[in-house]
Amino acid sequence: MSRRRFLLSLAPALVAPAWVARAFATAIPRASAVPGGVARVGLGASEQPPRVRLGSDRVLVMREGDEWIAFVGIGLTAKPGSKLQVEAEQAGGSLERFEISVAPKAYASQHLKVPPDQVDLSTEHLARYERERAHLSEVLRTFTDSPPATLSMLQPAPGQRSSSFGLRRYFNGRARSPHNGMDIAAPAGTPVIAANAGRVIDTGDYFFPGRTVVLDHGQGFLSLYAHLEAIDATVAQAVSAGSVIGKVGATGRITGPHLHFSVYLNAVAVDPALFLRDQ
Ligand SMILES: [Zn+2]
Repeated sequence: MSRRRFLLSLAPALVAPAWVARAFATAIPRASAVPGGVARVGLGASEQPPRVRLGSDRVLVMREGDEWIAFVGIGLTAKPGSKLQVEAEQAGGSLERFEISVAPKAYASQHLKVPPDQVDLSTEHLARYERERAHLSEVLRTFTDSPPATLSMLQPAPGQRSSSFGLRRYFNGRARSPHNGMDIAAPAGTPVIAANAGRVIDTGDYFFPGRTVVLDHGQGFLSLYAHLEAIDATVAQAVSAGSVIGKVGATGRITGPHLHFSVYLNAVAVDPALFLRDQ
C-alpha cells in the first residue's frame, strides 16, 4: 500500500464524530447540589483515597487528575437551604468535614383523581409491599469497594426519555413518593441493556416495580430497571456496559409498557439524566 493510500484509509478514524467531542466537553455526572442531584466535593491529592461518609452511608470517591473527588448523591427529600455534612477520613486517620448547601430545584406536581380502591392497598398487598420495600432498601444500600471505571452511562433502551424525575404526584389530594427515576418509552419486548459495567445484585418480581433488575457498578453507584417483561440476568452475574439484561414490559402497577430506570449514589435516587449524554 502506498503511503498516500495508507493515510487516506486512516483519515476517517482520525476525525472524531461529534458525539466523541461532546463526550469530552461535558463532565459526567453534571454536578448540581439540588434535591435529586449530585454534588462534587474536592478532597485534595492524598496517595490513598479518603473514606467519605454522608451520615452512615459511604460515598463514592474517584480520582480525577491528581485529586480525589467525592460524588455525593442528594436525596429528593433534602430540604433546599439545608446543609449536608460530609466527613472525609484520610488513610492516616485524620478527619475533615465538608458542608454541602442544598440549592432549590422546582419539580413539577401532578394531581390525579382516582377511584379509592386503586390507591388503597388491601392488607395482603400492603404487607407484601412493606416486605419488598424493606428488601429493596437493603439492596440499595450495597457498597462495594472497587470504584466504577466511569460514571458515564448508556441509555438502557432506545426511546423518548421522560423528564419526570422528581415529579410530585398527589392521588386524591394525598402526596405519594416523588418519581425517583426516568421513564423511557419503548414497546414491550425491546431489549434493555446494562447502562454501565457491573454485577447483578438483585432480581425479583415486585408489587409496584414489577420484574426488576438492580446492578452494582461499584462504591454505591447502582442502577435499577423496572417493569420488565423478562429478566435475562442472574444474581452475582458480571455484566458489561451494553449487555442485555432483560426486555421492556408493563409488569408491576403501571398502565402501559415503558422502562423505569433509576440511578443511586450513597443509597439515594439521583436524576439519571445527569449520567447520560444528551440525546
Ligand atoms: Zn417510572
